[in-house]
Amino acid sequence: MWVTPLIERKRDRGALTPDEWRELIAEYTAGRVPDYQVAALLMAVFLNGVEPAELAALTGAMLDSGERLRLDHLGMPIADKHSTGGVGDKVSLVLAPLVASCGVGVPMISGRGLGHTGGTLDKLEAIPGFRANLGAAEVQRQMERLGCVIMGQTEEVAPADRKLYALRDVTGTVESVPLIAASIMSKKLAEGIGGLVLDVKRGSGAFLPALDDGLELARTMIGIGEHYGCRTVALLTAMDRPLGRACGNALETEEAIAALRGEGPADLMEVTLALAAEMLLVAGVESDRSAARARLDDALGSGRAAERFRSVVATQGGNPAVVDDPAVLPQAQEVAVHMASRSGYVAAVDPRTVGRAIIAMGGGRRTMEDVIDPSVGFVITAKPGDRVKAGEALASIYARDTEGIRVGAAALERAIGIVEERPPAPLPLVSHRVTKTGVEEWADGRRGG
Ligand code: URA
Repeated sequence: MWVTPLIERKRDRGALTPDEWRELIAEYTAGRVPDYQVAALLMAVFLNGVEPAELAALTGAMLDSGERLRLDHLGMPIADKHSTGGVGDKVSLVLAPLVASCGVGVPMISGRGLGHTGGTLDKLEAIPGFRANLGAAEVQRQMERLGCVIMGQTEEVAPADRKLYALRDVTGTVESVPLIAASIMSKKLAEGIGGLVLDVKRGSGAFLPALDDGLELARTMIGIGEHYGCRTVALLTAMDRPLGRACGNALETEEAIAALRGEGPADLMEVTLALAAEMLLVAGVESDRSAARARLDDALGSGRAAERFRSVVATQGGNPAVVDDPAVLPQAQEVAVHMASRSGYVAAVDPRTVGRAIIAMGGGRRTMEDVIDPSVGFVITAKPGDRVKAGEALASIYARDTEGIRVGAAALERAIGIVEERPPAPLPLVSHRVTKTGVEEWADGRRGG
């Protein structure tokens, strides 16, 4: 396939035809188009956007690059959730087994770290032995037995996104509404789900920080989902500070396990339960939110959710002892406490600075070939609005060596702003709910209603 004219056309703000998109994606997935040409095309899309017909063709081609899971025979509703990406966002690790333990099948295809954000697969692979790369037959068997699987894209399912995602990660082409929408929706629709809940992040640490861009992304993905007959809902959630306390792969897995026992930090529990309740609603196992919340609380309180996680880990080759003993996870060589350099209020905990520091400390990738160190990261206890005294502990730094501690401390010094006056309130954890019929503000106390 001759790709140069397509790159030139996109560069000059033209459109590719649906057939050209289909052929390009098929040829790229088959390894017959080099990464550098697709990187150039992605940059042209990033800069110039695509027309609606191009987005539909791109998403369809990515979806058709592999097989779709066939799960109708399970006799249970099948649904999933996907986040547009954040720092400290370990929601999927908690939500997938939690929702599965409430009677909804969750065949979750997740990603690795992208840009400054972490990835569910990298977090799970911190568990010794855990395998995210599963064959289609294995996925079917695990879904039949546990109603839950958390896996990566494979040669069989959504292979185009696997390649494009890794390429975008290292070519500065992540922050684009059409590219994010096609990436997320192609892999989610390949799961054969009937319902999808999207966690669209907003705020400084989101790929698209502005509310309007988040709403546009939500509407775009809902449009694609509903076109394919998948009931799709989005919640806009805060990413102006990390979610929970732990940031970094093994540390986040440990915090997610605490959350599966109902003992996670309040912000993580609130966002997870809001998304999980929407999943029970789109899956149709509950028809009102308070009943959904009661079912979720019971699954956490009874230990069923944590046990489902244990079974998923064991079936995917991981050490199930991690559920009782986090020491099974890789441990950092060096740990240091980071203290407030002055008294005042915490004005911000900047997620991008935190996410980039984790990459610099070895916990994320700078190139597609990098091998990550799962043990590094931060546990940040300070939250925006907290009053702190000079010398008070704000965070712990987990690193490979003293140089890593130095890099982490310098990043926290930049990330955690301390001011004299009480700062404005951070974004609400959940601010909007978007469906095919429109946008609603998320009222505080929506818990029951
Ligand atoms: N998550 C994805 O799966 N893809 C993106 O492009 C961004 C977030």
